[in-house]
Amino acid sequence: MPVHISIPREVTPGERRVALIPEVVKALTKSGTQIASETNAGLSAGYPDEGYTASGATVTGDRSQLFGGAEIVLKIQPPTMDEIAAMKAGTIVVALMNASRNLDLVARMRDAKLTAFALELLPRITRAQSMDVLSSQATVAGYRATLIGAELSPKFLPMLTTAAGTIRPAKVLILGAGVAGLMAIATVKRLGAVVEGYDVRRAAGEQVRSLGARFLELQINAEAAGGYARELTDEEKKQEAAMVAKAVADADIVVSTAAIPGRKAPILIRDDMVSKMRPGSVVVDLAAETGGNCELTKPGETIVVHGVSIAGPLNLPSQLAYNASQMFSKNLQSFLTLLITKDGTLVTDYSDEILAGSLLLSGGTVRHKPTADLLAGGK
Ligand code: NAD
Repeated sequence: MPVHISIPREVTPGERRVALIPEVVKALTKSGTQIASETNAGLSAGYPDEGYTASGATVTGDRSQLFGGAEIVLKIQPPTMDEIAAMKAGTIVVALMNASRNLDLVARMRDAKLTAFALELLPRITRAQSMDVLSSQATVAGYRATLIGAELSPKFLPMLTTAAGTIRPAKVLILGAGVAGLMAIATVKRLGAVVEGYDVRRAAGEQVRSLGARFLELQINAEAAGGYARELTDEEKKQEAAMVAKAVADADIVVSTAAIPGRKAPILIRDDMVSKMRPGSVVVDLAAETGGNCELTKPGETIVVHGVSIAGPLNLPSQLAYNASQMFSKNLQSFLTLLITKDGTLVTDYSDEILAGSLLLSGGTVRHKPTADLLAGGK
């Protein structure tokens, strides 16, 4: 029996991406998997139904068949209550689940006895790099945030020598030099601005410099488990605030990307720092989704305070839906090699480190301990 995979159209407002693009559908159907995609599943990302049909998928408008007939459902956003209700027990759902913010959905999936893999929980190990949707989508977000900054700024980014005089290059500051921040630095460099980067992980310094940017360094190294940043102590926060205040005041555009896994984003830019920026300057706060790095940020809006534009964009990868979907699809194709054997049957042993790490729930039990604890505490 071939494995049946379904690709629904995303229904979350503002979500334009699709979990699988036709190129990956083709590779999977070739190796014996049966794929059903929902009518217009990829349209808003630039992948019309014809591409799915030509790649061997069945295109259907029947949602109950799509969800009820699948062994695996691949999504970008977590399944909705209606989608969960349409799936039979034992169906495997793979998506970005944002479990701690979607406890009601987790409880519903648990009660429906679904098996769920949360892509944000994939361990950041070398073998999982090709599946790492957090990295691929952060790459898109870093690029896009930079362009938003350039567009809101009243200045050229590169230095120009023209008959109308010489124009100095813009100064851009990138706070947080993880995947998104490094992509932002690379993009800003290509646009010709003078770039500074800051991170609390010392290891990030080498990467920032290798992209041709100056690294702002504190005498601390807040690298914690798994290569992630830890929260700073109060004393470290004071040192940070003094250095960041100076750099922010001097910048034409600030792109902030600082994050600490599982926590609210650290506040790096205070109201008084914004008030010292030149009028017309810009802050693009990529951390808006988790509270923002700037205390003035309004998630989903662009506001002007003290003459400074502050953008708090949400779901930036959706704005570059074509390539974001392409990268997400490739990540899923790689992940599926762990779930489907070479002879086309479903794997039932989830002891592999990557499967075990990303398994959110199965058989009516929440397997991810922090989420199980949150659920136990809340209900
Ligand atoms: P993230 O989105 O969790 O955070 C973004 C950045 O913010 C990080 O670089 C973090 O150090 C920084 N940050 C946190 N607090 C800060 C503060 N107060 N001031 C300034 N910066 C602050 O990070 P990410 O992009 O997901 O990457 C996190 C780590 O994971 C990095 O070390 C990265 O190299 C590593 N990584 C490993 C793999 C892999 O091996 N498969 C893949 C991707 C990322």
